[in-house]
Amino acid sequence: MRWLRSMSLVVAGVVLSGSVFLGEDTASSDLARGQQWWTQVQALSNDAMRGRLTGSDEYLRAAAYVVDQFKAYGLQSAGLNGGFYQPVKFDVQRVLADKSSLSLVTGGKEESLSLGQDAVLGARSPQVDHVDAPLVFIGYGLHLPEAKYDDFDSSSVPWKSLKGKVVVYINGGPADLPGPLKSYARTAPFAKALHDSGAVGAISIPTPKSMDFGWQRVASGASQPGMRLAPSPDAEAVATKHPALADYHEPMFTATFNPAEAEKLFAGTGHSFAEILALADAQKPLPRFALGKEVRATVVTEKTQVESPNIVAKLEGSDPKLSKEYVLVSAHLDHLGVGAPIHGKTIYNGTMDDASGVASVLETARAFSRAKTRPKRSILFVIFTAEEKGLLGSRYFAGHPTVPASAIKADLNLDMFMPIFALKKLHVQGLEQSTLAEDARKVGAEHHIVIAPDPEPDRNSFIRTDQYSFVQAGVPALAFKFGWEMGSPEYRAWRGWLAERYHSTADDLSQPVDLAAAAQFNSFYADLARTVADDPATPHYLESSFFRRFENQVK
Ligand SMILES: [Zn+2]
Repeated sequence: MRWLRSMSLVVAGVVLSGSVFLGEDTASSDLARGQQWWTQVQALSNDAMRGRLTGSDEYLRAAAYVVDQFKAYGLQSAGLNGGFYQPVKFDVQRVLADKSSLSLVTGGKEESLSLGQDAVLGARSPQVDHVDAPLVFIGYGLHLPEAKYDDFDSSSVPWKSLKGKVVVYINGGPADLPGPLKSYARTAPFAKALHDSGAVGAISIPTPKSMDFGWQRVASGASQPGMRLAPSPDAEAVATKHPALADYHEPMFTATFNPAEAEKLFAGTGHSFAEILALADAQKPLPRFALGKEVRATVVTEKTQVESPNIVAKLEGSDPKLSKEYVLVSAHLDHLGVGAPIHGKTIYNGTMDDASGVASVLETARAFSRAKTRPKRSILFVIFTAEEKGLLGSRYFAGHPTVPASAIKADLNLDMFMPIFALKKLHVQGLEQSTLAEDARKVGAEHHIVIAPDPEPDRNSFIRTDQYSFVQAGVPALAFKFGWEMGSPEYRAWRGWLAERYHSTADDLSQPVDLAAAAQFNSFYADLARTVADDPATPHYLESSFFRRFENQVK
């Protein structure tokens, strides 16, 4: 097993002068603490854990391990009914591609498509059994009336209404819309706009530039079961309190089209996909037009239900007043389970995604358990289920917190923080949005780490990890990744990792990891949690933040 890259040892000289946990850490080197962290990663992502699929026995086994660790570090249970768990119910849908069919019909002539090669059918939202509907290209598919931008607006286009149609859209957005706004538009506003427009389905086309990995991996991912939160009795109350967390459960036809085959959709329209793609890559405005053909599909699915828990533990704060408030440290335990073989291997271990983050939350618990004083605010350690299924565990927790909702003041989330090279810089999602940026910059400076915003907002990372569930519930939140300079060896390592290992069986324990850098990150993270917990000022969204609207909805 290769644990170390050769470059990992050259960063040993970093001074942790600001560390609140320095007292207990001086005895052990970064490397020793990195190895301790790696032991946790191994326990969570070895082959016997079989990829920790939400609802699986192995997920439960990994969860029991986490609970044991939390107990060992002296944390109290803070889940449901006095325990560490918060059970969550899911509706599961598996698309049976070999029993389903997809074709394009132009002027009565049917051209059948290959499921897997040309397109994959969506498993996440409830599918329709059958669809036969005209296709309309609506550009980026963004519905942002607040920015006076709406691709769903049919008043100035020949079709006048999207009722009964299937919309086709491409990833991305025009340059003059801010990144977080474009990301936000891909969440609840898209589902709502689609629903309100009367459309009966949606086909998305990823741009090759926006894809973290090739089409082959998208195709193998399509055999995965899709999940959504089972409708809960209080769904309406939650949706009223947090409109951004509302779910749409009506069946819809959904599919993703292979960009390499997308000319099939555009043939005969006077537009080519190549031309649309060039405009999208340049973040230019896109034309909207009818595609002059229908999509015909029969979708065969298998539906079941599973239950899978979040895990919640707490460290009581020391301040009589502030201890009633919570700072969350969080990560997700689930991964993709066992699936289509890649290089002859079928277990998707999810070592970086996100055993690494859970291990760091455990290391944070360890650091607090050894600290001489407790933090002023309470720390809530939350480990989510079903992140890979659409941030579902965190979404459930944000809507049904096991502590009073108004007491949750911040979330510091970890999802693939990527210690694969030396730690000099962190890219922080959500940095421009709240006062948590000040704490992050202060603690970063103490650790000699440059704190920078996400340089690739169009990857939509901000909405793709669990902190976004808290953003939607009005809670200031940050997430972290090892930073790089564009074009540097570190950048190439990151892109290479995405291409080779992300959501692949190669995200396993045999990959190179920089253990010393992981340990340095863990110190930064624990110090940041401590700093936020001790800050007399309550974290809040900045006046300038678009996401402040959610904070206002809640309070
Ligand atoms: Zn993932």
